[in-house]
Amino acid sequence: MRDRDYLISRVTLPGPAPFRGRPETEPSHPSSRADLVIRDGIVENIQPPGSARAEGLIELDGDGLVALPTFAEPHVHLDKAMTAGIVAARGGDLASAVAAWVAARPSMTTRDITHRALETAYRYLAHGTRAIRTHTDTGPGIGTRASPFGRPRPRAPGQPAP
Ligand SMILES: [Zn+2]
Repeated sequence: MRDRDYLISRVTLPGPAPFRGRPETEPSHPSSRADLVIRDGIVENIQPPGSARAEGLIELDGDGLVALPTFAEPHVHLDKAMTAGIVAARGGDLASAVAAWVAARPSMTTRDITHRALETAYRYLAHGTRAIRTHTDTGPGIGTRASPFGRPRPRAPGQPAP
Protein backbone atom coordinates (compact mmCIF):
# COMPACT_ATOMS: atom_id res chain seq x y z
CA MET A 1 0.00 0.00 0.00
CA ARG A 2 1.30 3.42 -0.89
CA ASP A 3 0.23 6.53 0.97
CA ARG A 4 -1.32 7.96 -2.20
CA ASP A 5 -3.44 4.97 -3.20
CA TYR A 6 -7.09 5.20 -2.22
CA LEU A 7 -10.51 3.68 -2.66
CA ILE A 8 -13.05 6.42 -2.09
CA SER A 9 -16.44 4.75 -2.03
CA ARG A 10 -19.92 6.16 -2.58
CA VAL A 11 -18.95 9.54 -4.03
CA THR A 12 -21.34 11.59 -6.13
CA LEU A 13 -20.17 12.47 -9.62
CA PRO A 14 -21.69 15.29 -11.62
CA GLY A 15 -23.44 13.64 -14.58
CA PRO A 16 -23.55 9.97 -15.52
CA ALA A 17 -20.66 7.86 -14.23
CA PRO A 18 -18.30 6.72 -17.00
CA PHE A 19 -18.04 3.11 -15.80
CA ARG A 20 -15.41 1.26 -17.76
CA GLY A 21 -16.91 -1.16 -20.25
CA ARG A 22 -20.50 -0.20 -19.49
CA PRO A 23 -22.64 2.04 -21.64
CA GLU A 24 -24.20 5.04 -19.99
CA THR A 25 -27.71 3.94 -19.15
CA GLU A 26 -29.04 7.33 -18.16
CA PRO A 27 -26.98 9.97 -19.98
CA SER A 28 -29.31 12.76 -18.92
CA HIS A 29 -29.05 11.91 -15.21
CA PRO A 30 -27.69 14.97 -13.35
CA SER A 31 -25.45 12.96 -11.02
CA SER A 32 -24.46 9.43 -10.11
CA ARG A 33 -22.78 7.47 -7.34
CA ALA A 34 -19.52 5.65 -7.85
CA ASP A 35 -16.38 4.27 -6.20
CA LEU A 36 -13.08 5.87 -7.20
CA VAL A 37 -9.76 4.06 -7.24
CA ILE A 38 -6.93 6.57 -7.03
CA ARG A 39 -3.31 5.54 -7.43
CA ASP A 40 -0.43 7.95 -7.03
CA GLY A 41 -2.80 10.91 -7.17
CA ILE A 42 -4.48 9.84 -10.43
CA VAL A 43 -8.04 8.47 -10.79
CA GLU A 44 -7.32 5.01 -12.14
CA ASN A 45 -10.81 3.59 -12.20
CA ILE A 46 -14.43 4.58 -11.67
CA GLN A 47 -16.68 1.71 -10.64
CA PRO A 48 -20.30 1.23 -9.61
CA PRO A 49 -20.75 1.88 -5.86
CA GLY A 50 -19.88 -1.11 -3.70
CA SER A 51 -18.01 -2.96 -6.46
CA ALA A 52 -14.45 -1.66 -6.09
CA ARG A 53 -11.98 -3.79 -4.11
CA ALA A 54 -9.98 -2.03 -1.40
CA GLU A 55 -7.09 -4.49 -1.39
CA GLY A 56 -3.88 -2.52 -0.97
CA LEU A 57 -5.73 0.79 -0.88
CA ILE A 58 -6.51 3.27 1.86
CA GLU A 59 -10.31 3.14 2.10
CA LEU A 60 -12.36 6.28 2.60
CA ASP A 61 -16.14 6.62 2.68
CA GLY A 62 -17.18 9.41 0.33
CA ASP A 63 -20.60 9.42 2.01
CA GLY A 64 -22.26 10.91 -1.07
CA LEU A 65 -20.02 13.96 -1.22
CA VAL A 66 -19.40 15.37 -4.70
CA ALA A 67 -16.04 14.41 -6.24
CA LEU A 68 -14.61 17.06 -8.54
CA PRO A 69 -11.28 17.49 -10.31
CA THR A 70 -8.96 20.17 -8.96
CA PHE A 71 -9.62 23.71 -10.09
CA ALA A 72 -7.43 25.88 -12.29
CA GLU A 73 -7.31 29.69 -12.25
CA PRO A 74 -6.52 30.79 -15.80
CA HIS A 75 -6.34 34.56 -15.21
CA VAL A 76 -5.46 36.40 -12.04
CA HIS A 77 -3.23 39.35 -11.11
CA LEU A 78 -1.51 38.14 -7.95
CA ASP A 79 0.56 41.33 -7.74
CA LYS A 80 -2.68 43.22 -7.08
CA ALA A 81 -4.13 40.70 -4.63
CA MET A 82 -5.31 42.09 -1.31
CA THR A 83 -4.73 45.72 -2.27
CA ALA A 84 -8.33 46.94 -2.00
CA GLY A 85 -7.53 48.44 1.40
CA ILE A 86 -4.27 50.11 0.34
CA VAL A 87 -5.02 51.35 -3.18
CA ALA A 88 -7.67 54.05 -3.10
CA ALA A 89 -9.75 53.67 -6.27
CA ARG A 90 -12.54 56.21 -6.16
CA GLY A 91 -14.33 56.21 -9.52
CA GLY A 92 -15.97 52.80 -9.28
CA ASP A 93 -14.84 51.87 -12.80
CA LEU A 94 -11.88 50.12 -14.39
CA ALA A 95 -10.17 53.33 -15.56
CA SER A 96 -10.11 54.83 -12.07
CA ALA A 97 -8.96 51.52 -10.58
CA VAL A 98 -6.07 51.33 -13.08
CA ALA A 99 -5.12 54.98 -12.37
CA ALA A 100 -5.15 54.33 -8.61
CA TRP A 101 -3.03 51.22 -9.03
CA VAL A 102 -0.47 53.01 -11.24
CA ALA A 103 -0.25 55.81 -8.65
CA ALA A 104 0.34 53.27 -5.87
CA ARG A 105 2.93 51.19 -7.74
CA PRO A 106 6.03 53.13 -6.54
CA SER A 107 5.20 52.26 -2.92
CA MET A 108 5.04 48.51 -3.61
CA THR A 109 8.08 46.43 -2.64
CA THR A 110 9.01 43.00 -3.89
CA ARG A 111 8.62 41.70 -0.33
CA ASP A 112 5.09 43.13 0.02
CA ILE A 113 3.99 41.93 -3.41
CA THR A 114 5.44 38.47 -2.83
CA HIS A 115 3.80 38.18 0.58
CA ARG A 116 0.35 39.11 -0.78
CA ALA A 117 0.74 36.92 -3.86
CA LEU A 118 1.79 33.88 -1.82
CA GLU A 119 -0.98 34.42 0.73
CA THR A 120 -3.49 34.53 -2.09
CA ALA A 121 -1.99 31.48 -3.80
CA TYR A 122 -2.22 29.52 -0.53
CA ARG A 123 -5.89 30.51 -0.26
CA TYR A 124 -6.47 29.22 -3.79
CA LEU A 125 -4.74 25.97 -2.83
CA ALA A 126 -6.81 25.62 0.35
CA HIS A 127 -9.95 25.77 -1.78
CA GLY A 128 -8.85 23.17 -4.32
CA THR A 129 -7.04 25.20 -6.98
CA ARG A 130 -3.86 23.46 -8.08
CA ALA A 131 -2.85 25.58 -11.09
CA ILE A 132 -2.70 29.36 -11.34
CA ARG A 133 -1.77 31.54 -14.30
CA THR A 134 -0.99 35.07 -13.13
CA HIS A 135 -0.10 38.36 -14.73
CA THR A 136 2.06 41.09 -13.19
CA ASP A 137 2.70 44.71 -13.97
CA THR A 138 6.05 45.97 -15.20
CA GLY A 139 7.03 49.49 -16.17
CA PRO A 140 7.35 52.97 -14.69
CA GLY A 141 7.04 53.11 -10.94
CA ILE A 142 7.34 49.37 -10.41
CA GLY A 143 10.01 48.11 -12.79
CA THR A 144 10.09 44.33 -12.50
CA ARG A 145 9.47 44.17 -8.73
CA ALA A 146 6.04 42.56 -9.20
CA SER A 147 7.29 39.74 -11.39
CA PRO A 148 7.84 36.39 -9.71
CA PHE A 149 11.41 36.21 -8.49
CA GLY A 150 11.85 39.92 -9.27
CA ARG A 151 12.25 39.58 -13.02
CA PRO A 152 9.99 38.80 -15.97
CA ARG A 153 9.96 35.22 -17.14
CA PRO A 154 10.90 34.76 -20.77
CA ARG A 155 8.17 33.79 -23.16
CA ALA A 156 8.56 30.76 -25.37
CA PRO A 157 8.98 31.52 -29.07
CA GLY A 158 5.54 32.02 -30.60
CA GLN A 159 3.83 32.28 -27.20
CA PRO A 160 1.27 35.11 -27.32
CA ALA A 161 1.52 38.09 -25.02
CA PRO A 162 -0.73 37.83 -21.96
ZN1 LIG B 1 -6.30 40.51 -16.44
